[in-house]
Amino acid sequence: MKTIADFRSDTFTKPTPGMLDAMMLAEVGDDVFGEDPAVNELEAIVAGLFGKAAALYCPSGTMSNQIAIKVHTLPGDEVICSDLAHVFVYEGGGIAFNAGCQARTLHGERGLLTAKQVEAAINPDDVHRARTSLVCLENTANRGGGACYDFQEILRIRDVCKAHGLGFHLDGARLFNALVAKGETPTQYGAAFDTISICLNKGLGCPMGSVLVGSEAFIKEARRVRKKLGGGLRQAGFMAAAGIYAVEHQVARLDEDHCNARDIADALLSRPFVGQMWPVETNIIIFELLAPYTAASFAEKLAAQGIRVGVISPTQIRMVTHLDITPDMVQHTLDAILHLH
Ligand SMILES: *Cc1c(COP(=O)(O)O)cnc(C)c1O
Repeated sequence: MKTIADFRSDTFTKPTPGMLDAMMLAEVGDDVFGEDPAVNELEAIVAGLFGKAAALYCPSGTMSNQIAIKVHTLPGDEVICSDLAHVFVYEGGGIAFNAGCQARTLHGERGLLTAKQVEAAINPDDVHRARTSLVCLENTANRGGGACYDFQEILRIRDVCKAHGLGFHLDGARLFNALVAKGETPTQYGAAFDTISICLNKGLGCPMGSVLVGSEAFIKEARRVRKKLGGGLRQAGFMAAAGIYAVEHQVARLDEDHCNARDIADALLSRPFVGQMWPVETNIIIFELLAPYTAASFAEKLAAQGIRVGVISPTQIRMVTHLDITPDMVQHTLDAILHLH
């Protein structure tokens, strides 16, 4: 069956016509020499948006997270993060491989941590113990079903980090989804965190790319680490131009993705074979299937109607709405869900 609607991830998007035009018209140069005007412009725009001094364009969100972790730590240090965190679960063991650090994972509700938990997990200054040097949050929390932090809790965690001299990094792959859903601003986040990585290749619909923001000194060092990892690109401006276009034109529309996700979630919840579902705060729907369905058999049934979803455990499905999910596709999906038996 031909794919009609692909909900496996918000990475399944193609550049919009406006984005392609922006890419074709990009003014480019050699970014390793710092001479790509489009990359420089994207970095300046995103740094400005978050009220940070500097920014670094990276090929992927994984690379910008890994660079941030490396620059914040020394080998042998401990990084505090959720047990569901992308930096721990989905970056190939990069914390150990790239930074030589170990992760101290905490179990929080829907991938969200509290200041109390974080404070209790900081190691004492004792030669037996690894030095705790960094706290990494994720907003929205992907594996938590696109859950959003309460900003007041972020500030409390920030205070704990400050009191203990820890770095504070945000994996903001889907931060714009959280900002739109909660009516928050990038500058709030820029003021709270030392460093933030955002993805351009998720909800913002770019073919690739991520931006890491931080202080001038931090980004200078990050640029060196990016080079070591092989992430120094030449005429990257063609891709950076897509990023500029996305930040300027494809942020406010994330609300449509959130509405679509809620409509699909409501249809699912009306069916007897759908069990527990995480609250749908943004563009991610994670739910349990009940007998006679398994996640695989449910996915197969929908695939027969051209609808692709993600199987994330034997009983769990993940669906993600995005730029390339049209109203017609949503209608087709709602019809399919309501007629499944
Ligand atoms: C997708 C994602 C990333 C990075 O992804 P790349 O595919 O490497 O760009 C980082 N964190 C979260 C939460 C993500 O969902």
